[in-house]
Amino acid sequence: MQLKSIDDKRARFRAKYKGLFFNSYLNGLLVCIILSGFVYCSALNIHWDLRLTILLPLGFLFSDAAMYLAHRYQQHKKVKFQEAVFEMHTFWHHGMFTNEKMHVKSTQDMNMVILPFFVHALVLGGVYLPVALLGSHLQLDVGWILLFSVAIHSMWYEFIHTIAHLENPPVFKNLANHHKEHHNPKNMGSVNFGIATTLFDRVFGTRFISSE
Ligand SMILES: [Zn+2]
Ligand SMILES: [Zn+2]
Repeated sequence: MQLKSIDDKRARFRAKYKGLFFNSYLNGLLVCIILSGFVYCSALNIHWDLRLTILLPLGFLFSDAAMYLAHRYQQHKKVKFQEAVFEMHTFWHHGMFTNEKMHVKSTQDMNMVILPFFVHALVLGGVYLPVALLGSHLQLDVGWILLFSVAIHSMWYEFIHTIAHLENPPVFKNLANHHKEHHNPKNMGSVNFGIATTLFDRVFGTRFISSE
């Protein structure tokens, strides 16, 4: 009975937002092109040496922290002028998927999981690319390394988030379960904001593991 009502709710969501989105294959393809394009372009601009590669994990951690904070304080809280982000995540994404019904039913549902391509383009191109170009101007590769790490982290984020929304996650089941707990409507505003890793939930004490 409970599942039926969730199914009904999902059907209403699909009907409501049908036509608002473009083809989910096209969005997935554009996300792949944009993220790999930024990885390729930054890799070409980095003068690789061993010392610089040490910065890669730091860039990955920086991106993980930024995503954690954006999820916790932007996507789950109404921020002035950014209400659309809150609505897209809290109402649409969490409205479609609860811990009782996490999986996508069709490829079109992927539009509710993978971020729209322009979000990646705006964040990487509008925030991190200018930093990389400024660094280049100062003959520093740090900005390109940051862009490279953030683009790789974004790929990882999309991969884990997609896995978490499959009916039977084939790999990384712990991360999938971690995200599933976040989709419990009672918990979504308070726990498991990390998606790509659980690190910052551990750091900030927001990690929750079900006793089931
Ligand atoms: Zn999700
Ligand atoms: Zn959320």
